[in-house]
Amino acid sequence: MIYLDHAATTPLHPRALDAMLPFLNGTFGNPSGLYAAGREAQAAVDEARRIVADCLGARPAEVLFTSGGTESINAAVLGIAGAMRRAGAGNHIITTAIEHHAGLHAAQLLEELGFEVTYLGCDPHGRIRVAEFERALRPETVLASVMFANNEVGTVQPVADIAALIRGYAQTRGHRVLLHTDAVQAPGWFNLDVNALGVDALSLSSHKFSGPKGSGVLFLRRATPFQPLLRGGGQEMQKRAGTENVAGIAGTAAALAIATTDIPERSQRVRALREQLRDGIIETIPDADANGCQENCLPNNLNVAFGGIESEALVEALDAKGIAVSSGSACSNSTWEPSHVLMAMGVPIRRAVGSIRFSLGESTTPQEIAAVLSILPGEVARVRLPVGRGV
Ligand code: PLP
Repeated sequence: MIYLDHAATTPLHPRALDAMLPFLNGTFGNPSGLYAAGREAQAAVDEARRIVADCLGARPAEVLFTSGGTESINAAVLGIAGAMRRAGAGNHIITTAIEHHAGLHAAQLLEELGFEVTYLGCDPHGRIRVAEFERALRPETVLASVMFANNEVGTVQPVADIAALIRGYAQTRGHRVLLHTDAVQAPGWFNLDVNALGVDALSLSSHKFSGPKGSGVLFLRRATPFQPLLRGGGQEMQKRAGTENVAGIAGTAAALAIATTDIPERSQRVRALREQLRDGIIETIPDADANGCQENCLPNNLNVAFGGIESEALVEALDAKGIAVSSGSACSNSTWEPSHVLMAMGVPIRRAVGSIRFSLGESTTPQEIAAVLSILPGEVARVRLPVGRGV
């Protein structure tokens, strides 16, 4: 298989597996246990917290382990906004129309709970505009949630600029707006120093950086108002109840430590392959164009619109040839639902429904890219709808 869907998930790194194995086989204590087996598990969680904090430039007490990106994002958005409203700070949040559904649906839940939400649009490259963000700020704004990099088209968002703007707003008006970023797609490609970024909360999902599925991280800056999403025991410094997934936590820390090393080399190598793929596609396939920003983007993410195709047909055709990619649209009950991200970017619907995401990984080789470039033109031609029957 040529696997080009690393934005969906990545293979577990062997060293992450090694870090997990003791806790799947033998060392089974509950970290809350006061006896030796419990202490051993707690020591592993503490060590993992220290490693993750180090990778993010955070303090260990600012790192919470969760069940994945979705939980981290929900906890941040609902937990911070809820605590701020309870403190009487306001009931307005700002987010973007291009967030992952974990962020969008958490914001929609806040609307159901009586919050007002501003969903910022983006430019044709998939980037939100800082000036528009500034115009959306109101005296009652308590939280902004802006993703670090988009999972469908790879565009990197101006999170540090927004953090600086918010800091200025706090200084000139004495009004504090907290900032969360969904950085699920970033590890391995960008340095995630929470102080350089200036964020109050940051979400990660381990299986996107060769850690285990069902594990994630929420960075929550010290003294950030927060209402826990999950209630129960006092784990995770009273902020996330539930017996810790010790193996998942150990694997998360090992994988993040690996992803945080050699970032420039990895990014440069994979970006060159991405560009080879993009240029090869545009040269050899008529009516094909890259979607999204080509400069300020994830080095591994390439989204291409093929005119006159239905993306799912091409995904299936490539699958039959052993190539795994992802479609940018979902077809249910014969109704096309084009990607909300491509729609927000203003991509015409005909192109949005024919868009494919190729997401490369650390292990992607030039030979794999060459193989895809030799197979793709024939498959696109085969699934192209006759003129006049296109969507
Ligand atoms: N945010 C982004 C940008 C993502 O790409 C994903 C997963 O695709 C998530 C959040 C949700 O992560 P998970 O499914 O691991 O909870």
